[in-house]
Amino acid sequence: MGNRDCSSPGNCIAGFVSGIKVGIWIAFSHCRKKYYLCKKIQKNMKITLNSVVSVTYKLNSKPEGGEEKFIEEAGKNNPLTFLFGVGGMIAGFEANLNGLALGDTFNFSIRPEDAYGEKHPDNLVDLPIEAFKDEKGEIQRDMLKIGAIIPMQDNEGHHMRGVVVKVGINDVSMDFNHPLAGQHLRFEGEVVALRAATEDELAHGHVHGPGGHHH
Ligand SMILES: [Zn+2]
Repeated sequence: MGNRDCSSPGNCIAGFVSGIKVGIWIAFSHCRKKYYLCKKIQKNMKITLNSVVSVTYKLNSKPEGGEEKFIEEAGKNNPLTFLFGVGGMIAGFEANLNGLALGDTFNFSIRPEDAYGEKHPDNLVDLPIEAFKDEKGEIQRDMLKIGAIIPMQDNEGHHMRGVVVKVGINDVSMDFNHPLAGQHLRFEGEVVALRAATEDELAHGHVHGPGGHHH
């Protein structure tokens, strides 16, 4: 137990608890010291490159000059856990979390260029209505409602999801932009866990354990 790695607060808390369980005073007091040490590290620790970060958040989006709309949230029971600084998150999200500590709350907005980009006109496509035939060769009219999201495949086999914008007699206008393209995103939440990444996590480029990969 004396050799426990104190760079990770999780390890120290485990050491402290198991110290109580076995009831060995020496181990207990040793762990308690280490625990306090780690608490200090944990308190002073700030989100930086290679931190494993867990946050709760509520995401709202808003088009330029438009109304804000709720998109999704992650609560305390299912926080978003990720390895900071490896490019897994949108740039504006990490930039705003950089330097925060455990327990810090945040409420920031990101412009489209730092989130999912602007809507690109090339991603607005008119498709012949034949593209929406089912296996029997019948056009799936009930699927073609404005705003419906339809999974599709291009002639090179790429899978993409498009939103139905307009349905004509012979054509359907589809928008293949990311659903949050052109949107300002507002994230409101709290840093609920923070630790340094392990060597394995850094080598794999992702988080292991709760909220991450299990292997
Ligand atoms: Zn892994």
